[in-house]
Amino acid sequence: MNKLGWLRASCAIGYLAPARARPNLAIQANMFVRRLIIEGRRCTGVEVERPDGSIEGVSAKLVVLSAGTLLSPWILLRSGIGPRAHLESLSVNVLRDVPGVGANLSDHPELCRKFAGLGMHPRGTAKMGPAADPLAVVDAFGCRRSVEQLVVADASIMPFVPRANTHLTCIMIGEMVGEWLRTSMGRCGL
Ligand SMILES: Cc1cc2nc3c(=O)[nH]c(=O)nc-3n(C[C@H](O)[C@H](O)[C@H](O)COP(=O)(O)OP(=O)(O)OC[C@H]3O[C@@H](n4cnc5c(N)ncnc54)[C@H](O)[C@@H]3O)c2cc1C
Repeated sequence: MNKLGWLRASCAIGYLAPARARPNLAIQANMFVRRLIIEGRRCTGVEVERPDGSIEGVSAKLVVLSAGTLLSPWILLRSGIGPRAHLESLSVNVLRDVPGVGANLSDHPELCRKFAGLGMHPRGTAKMGPAADPLAVVDAFGCRRSVEQLVVADASIMPFVPRANTHLTCIMIGEMVGEWLRTSMGRCGL
């Protein structure tokens, strides 16, 4: 479905290439995000490691975390957002006790069985759900409750295994979150 003839249409081809010339877009490759910077109720940026090993903070009005099912929760945990007991066992300062971070991992069952546990479509480790769900990490708009200016937008927020392939579903998540941010920025504390 995400192929044009023999060409697989990645997000880099489909979205980034047409946007590269925008004056308000800066692409910084090979930057490794170490953690989110949380100040009080707000996420005010990220701490990154450059290829030369130097570490710096990058300020932002809004952070959209999209490091994928395995690494978005990793960044949240490193930032002090996760299950209290787990963070304390790792000597990480607990900023928000959020039991669902890193929980709820699942994959397409046929695929896992077929490839002996090698999952290619993992999801659900920062799942979307109502406030009453103790394992929900973000609300229906991808916003992290209790941390303003932070949105998660990748396969980690899928609460269930989708019937469609996950790549297309992730593109849909990106489209929806982008639209919500354009039309109702106040939703995430902006
Ligand atoms: C081999 C393979 C084949 C697949 N084939 C298909 C297919 O044919 N069709 C389909 O629909 N799905 C397919 N999938 C699944 C699909 O690729 C994923 O579901 C989808 O890419 C998930 O998107 P995402 O945005 O959640 O995360 P990702 O696509 O994993 O994007 C996360 C990005 O964040 C970056 N990142 C992570 N941590 C950090 C950090 N600390 N600092 C900076 N950057 C970071 C990563 O490098 C990555 O670029 C396949 C997966 C695999 C592994």
